[in-house]
Amino acid sequence: DAVVHWFKRDLRIRDNTGLSKAAQLAKDKGIGLIGLWIMSPQDWEAHLVSPMKCDFELRSVALLQKELQELNIPLYIETIPDRKNVAKRLVELAQEWNVKNVFCNLEYEPDELRREERLVRMMLEKGINFDPQHDDCVVPPGNLKTGGGKQYAVYSPWYRAWVAHLHTFPHLLSERPMPSANPPNFRARFGTLFDRPIPDLPLSKNLTPEESERFHQLWPAGEAAAIDRIEHFLAEKIGKYKEMRNFPAKNSTARVSAHHAAGTLAARTSVRLAQDMNSIKKLDGGKDGVKGWIGEVAWRDFYRHVLVHWPYVCMNKPFKYEYTNIEWEYNHTHFHAWKEGKTGYPIVDAAMRSLKHTGYMHNRLRMITASFLTKHLLLDWRLGEQYFISHLIDGDFASNNGGWGFCASAGVDPQPYFRIFNPWLQSEKFDQEGEFIRTWVPELSTVEGKAVHNPYAAGGKAAVVAKKNGYPEPIVEHKFARERCLASLHSRLSYL
Ligand code: FAD
Repeated sequence: DAVVHWFKRDLRIRDNTGLSKAAQLAKDKGIGLIGLWIMSPQDWEAHLVSPMKCDFELRSVALLQKELQELNIPLYIETIPDRKNVAKRLVELAQEWNVKNVFCNLEYEPDELRREERLVRMMLEKGINFDPQHDDCVVPPGNLKTGGGKQYAVYSPWYRAWVAHLHTFPHLLSERPMPSANPPNFRARFGTLFDRPIPDLPLSKNLTPEESERFHQLWPAGEAAAIDRIEHFLAEKIGKYKEMRNFPAKNSTARVSAHHAAGTLAARTSVRLAQDMNSIKKLDGGKDGVKGWIGEVAWRDFYRHVLVHWPYVCMNKPFKYEYTNIEWEYNHTHFHAWKEGKTGYPIVDAAMRSLKHTGYMHNRLRMITASFLTKHLLLDWRLGEQYFISHLIDGDFASNNGGWGFCASAGVDPQPYFRIFNPWLQSEKFDQEGEFIRTWVPELSTVEGKAVHNPYAAGGKAAVVAKKNGYPEPIVEHKFARERCLASLHSRLSYL
């Protein structure tokens, strides 16, 4: 008597492939549409989802429910404590509602794919068609191949193929139609599915009232907020994106990653809107900003394509198998100092503290801190990967795993192992005035000039202030760390 769309990482009404197909079918059959969202606390635990991200999702679900309700479409919400029961319960609900068609959008991690594959069979047995759609990537995984017919492991040629593919198949970028309203008599049969309460955060993901207030201010949830954010970025910042994107203090990037991760904004929508800017407006800074930004959104697709082709990256394995042999240090004092922003490297510390406070870290800083953990401290990149995912509001397995693999030189398209960021130089280059450091490391807020990048090496007043305020000295010396890393990685990697 209805068609179901199961919302997962696609918490939006606009430009949603699965939802749009479900709505179209319901309309063709003259029946109604039901939205479904399942909270699975065990899934959140298993995937180390940060409390701020869980909260962001719940807030987005509440707004989605409201918007759907305006179309007389219910968002039925249920909590399923044991994630093994999700598939079974979905089948039960479909039967209870006498539904013959259930749609959703694909998630590409192996557990999720396996669950969806099982659902196709379980539903088939009951005469129900379960139809997951490609939606999360702009170009669906599996469509781009090298000349030799293989999956790309390097970004640049992959990106050229991605752009060419979109020229050949422009419909991949076109907007999926919005669902129309359910017929007025829909409530007579399905009235009880409306107004289901939004569950509380599970205890393990609780936020204090202060944290809750802070994250709500910083990260308005839902698709309307996502559209506001991207429109503001496109109107004000994209023209200068290429020149400005690497400066953390300048707030010059879109800050839409939390929306891409929760699916309150589709990557497809972002690329299409950015492309439209080319024709609408002569941009300050030319088209390079648009191109550069689309190239960044494409990285998100790239890492998903990699995950689909090499699913072992989801199993704590480095993409480059020779990295399985690296003997990492497991120095807990160092790991603790890194997490707490007390390494004595001000740019690293500022970045780590900003992550804790905001749930976000600028891309340049993610690279600097990841490189520092893996190369300066020689700590296992998987420790950093897990710490990030459990603190980011935009935590996303593929992008996070890809980013860590890149920085540790263990992933696809990696930095070569002998390329080791010099955190002092990175700091001077990308936080020239020390503005970012002074914001996040109050112990150094009164240190003047360039000394803020490395107060103990600068000596004099800077070192006195740092010491007086309890700012730690560097936990490893840069030259020593660099040589130790080179020697360790070289000896392990070169014998292969
Ligand atoms: P913008 O610069 O405005 O870019 C626009 C969008 O493009 C982003 O919202 C994001 O969806 C995508 N994007 C940009 N850069 C990348 C990239 N390098 N890889 C994949 N997608 C990208 N991004 C996440 O969304 N979730 C993560 O968990 C995550 N972990 C990371 C871990 C490490 C170690 C590194 C180096 C990068 C990681 N990134 C991750 C990528 C990137 O840092 C963020 O996407 C970006 O900082 C988000 O800010 P923004 O929306 O202002 O980005």
